[in-house]
Amino acid sequence: AKPIVTIVGRPNVGKSTLFNRIAGKRISIVEDTPGVTRDRIYAECEWLDNHFTLIDTGGIEPDTIDTIFAQMRVQAEVAIEMADVVLFMVDGKEGVTAADTEVAQMLRKAKKEVILVVNKMDKFVNNDNIYEFYNLGIGDPVSISSSEALGIGDLLDEIIFRF
Ligand code: GDP
Ligand code: MG
Repeated sequence: AKPIVTIVGRPNVGKSTLFNRIAGKRISIVEDTPGVTRDRIYAECEWLDNHFTLIDTGGIEPDTIDTIFAQMRVQAEVAIEMADVVLFMVDGKEGVTAADTEVAQMLRKAKKEVILVVNKMDKFVNNDNIYEFYNLGIGDPVSISSSEALGIGDLLDEIIFRF
């Protein structure tokens, strides 16, 4: 079966932007307002002859779950359960938040391949922020800018290496 790669992280970090970038199409809806419910979340993707299914878990937002923490917990559970590789996305401009720390804890307990993706690193020259993300205990962060299309090839290399 094709490997499944999921993207998890708190609202507004850029999950849907990365999803669309890798899918090469605008499938997932990019929202400036955090917490808006989105739906179409699957794409069949390919990198260097490796085929995989990419899932934007930001689309999984049950109506009954109202706090961002609770939503993220459910999304992370689904992401962990389905995935062969989990992309845990954080915001390089905002730094580590309490919600990031909580999700990191869940991901560390799961026996899954997890890649820590630091998004919004639009100017790679100013990379000082990257070091605090080591505190999440997920390993070496991979810096990208989904909107500027920086670091995406290196991230895809990292993904297929885990299959
Ligand atoms: P999601 O809620 O995690 O799916 O985040 P979205 O993909 O909807 O993006 C949330 C906001 O962040 C939108 O305004 C995007 O344009 C913006 N965004 C996404 N990626 C980047 C990036 O690499 N750099 C910057 N500066 N903004 C980004
Ligand atoms: Mg989204």
